[in-house]
Amino acid sequence: MNVLFIPEAVDGEFHKPALELATYAAELAKMLGGEPIALVFGDASNDSIQVLGIYGTARALKAADGKYNSFDSAVWASAAALAVEKANAGIVVCTGTFNGKALSARLAAKLGAGLVSGAAGLPHKSAEALVYRKPIFSSKGFGEFAIDTDKQVVCIGINSFRVAESENPVQVSIENLGSDGTQPKIEVLETMRSKGQVLLTEAEVVVSAGRGLRGPENWHMIEELANILGAATSCSKPVSDVGWRPHSEHVGQTGLTISPNLYIAVGISGAIQHLAGVNNSKVIAVINKDPEAPFFKSADYGIIGDAFEVLPKLIEAAKALKK
Ligand code: FAD
Repeated sequence: MNVLFIPEAVDGEFHKPALELATYAAELAKMLGGEPIALVFGDASNDSIQVLGIYGTARALKAADGKYNSFDSAVWASAAALAVEKANAGIVVCTGTFNGKALSARLAAKLGAGLVSGAAGLPHKSAEALVYRKPIFSSKGFGEFAIDTDKQVVCIGINSFRVAESENPVQVSIENLGSDGTQPKIEVLETMRSKGQVLLTEAEVVVSAGRGLRGPENWHMIEELANILGAATSCSKPVSDVGWRPHSEHVGQTGLTISPNLYIAVGISGAIQHLAGVNNSKVIAVINKDPEAPFFKSADYGIIGDAFEVLPKLIEAAKALKK
């Protein structure tokens, strides 16, 4: 069974989440005796598509029509349905980004396919079905989900699969997907992307803050610490809800799932919905003035103290270490 996968490019380049997806698709296709085939949207050049060959993909369909340049779940889902036909694919795999989640749900409805969103690894075969494992109850447990429809759509969690180069890297042959009649209903006038910062989903270190920081005017301390450590910044949901920080920084059950080597949480209580997005971090360090804050139960290191006293000292210490 062929596996169609949809790696997302950022500024024309494929990053870790796309390479995880390519590895996943190659291993799934091998398991099912098929071929991994990429469907590429947007501005990825033919040169950057070649990187997928290192991960075992020999064929890519390129949605080159200008209407595919900005994300529109309806337009992308129609193109993906066309690609499923061209690739003779039984399974479509997407990444668990905001776009990937929206696309996979719409595509599954369009194809009448079973959908597993947030799959944590390769499925295993059971009778007629493929059985996928995914975290449930805010990552407090795992559930197994069998899909027995002809077509299947799977959205894998970010950082839930390793990146592994293929033993047999190949040249990618690129075909134009062509276009169907669906027209975008949304016109994107401008895209503003944060520049020069570490991408949150790829960061080794993340400095995150919550309502305990009292207001956006105090985030310079978080940014300074993050700069010194070469870290990305993130925040709790209420912080982005009130507009102190952009929604792209919101981590948790309803935000991004991350798994850095070090997650530093400042003035965040550690509600279960927040932990769902960060508890796969290798080391968690918590700064909170309340010794009873639930986050301390999940922390490897904890500092009980006022962020406004602790952060300046931490910044000085980090600066001294860097000298
Ligand atoms: P608070 O709960 O207000 O905690 C602030 C913390 O800062 C407290 O522990 C306090 O002791 C500490 N503090 C205060 N002042 C200082 C200081 N000077 N120094 C040090 N510490 C200080 N939340 C998410 O984050 N992500 C999600 O994806 C998410 N999804 C949700 C989905 C649903 C369906 C629901 C119902 C809720 C969701 N939430 C999510 C909200 C979640 O339940 C919590 O309300 C939220 O995480 C709390 O954010 P916070 O810790 O920043 O704020």
